[in-house]
Amino acid sequence: MKKRKPIRGVLLDIEGVLVRDKRYRPVAGAVAWVTALRDRGVPYCLVSNNTTFRPADLIAALVRAGFPVTEDHLVGALDLGRRWLVERGRRRIMWLGNPDLVDYWRDLGFAPVTDGPCEAVVLGVNTRVSVGALDQALPALLDQSADLVCLHRNPFFLDEKGERRLGPGAWAAALAAVGGAGRVITVGKPSEKIYTDALNRIGVAADEVLFISDDPVNYLVTARRLGMTTAFVLSGKYPDHAVLGGLAEQDWPHIISNSLGVIERPASSVADDGPTKD
Ligand SMILES: [Mg+2]
Repeated sequence: MKKRKPIRGVLLDIEGVLVRDKRYRPVAGAVAWVTALRDRGVPYCLVSNNTTFRPADLIAALVRAGFPVTEDHLVGALDLGRRWLVERGRRRIMWLGNPDLVDYWRDLGFAPVTDGPCEAVVLGVNTRVSVGALDQALPALLDQSADLVCLHRNPFFLDEKGERRLGPGAWAAALAAVGGAGRVITVGKPSEKIYTDALNRIGVAADEVLFISDDPVNYLVTARRLGMTTAFVLSGKYPDHAVLGGLAEQDWPHIISNSLGVIERPASSVADDGPTKD
């Protein structure tokens, strides 16, 4: 096997890696691990499919948990979704994600509708979505050629009790099957753009980056195909590696670890903190 290059940058999933679930309590050792990256000058970025919190609130929850992060460390599906809609002039949207975020979309200049014509149906995590709410999207998809914008397509996630709940991937599968004339797109992981945006953010080439996630199926396959080193941690969605049985061997993660805290930390990017080897 080709020798891998030294790691010069790190991309991190949030839930299941830094924090265990939507309670946002840190995984043991995770705060110290990320703090060490900062202290060593290793660039890092959070690559998040979170659609439950406004980006500022998401970062505030992580700061409260002790992580050294700012909004500059975040590349998220919510913001990619915003950009996709703005670039295509989709202003009237039917938001079927977290109802608490309706004002978020309004603050950004969108006109959220609950029924009536719209240009895009937008999906995020919503444990309260009803079949009736999904029905409301049918005229938009079938009669108005509205786009179906999936902020992500995770089939399930862990809620604030650590319980598995159906994610927007389930609603996306149902609404995509309707066969509307608009586009069906996914902006978050596993689509490539969120990964390449994160690489640009840290300014490190894919083959010198370590991507760490609790989801080897939906998140790490893309990272590995883009050339990154991948690490699967067992501190989130999957308590063991049985899930890898469904993956082709070339998509398996390079590293499997109980949690972030026990993964070997990348060396400093600062040249003067140790003897140099020439
Ligand atoms: Mg995760």
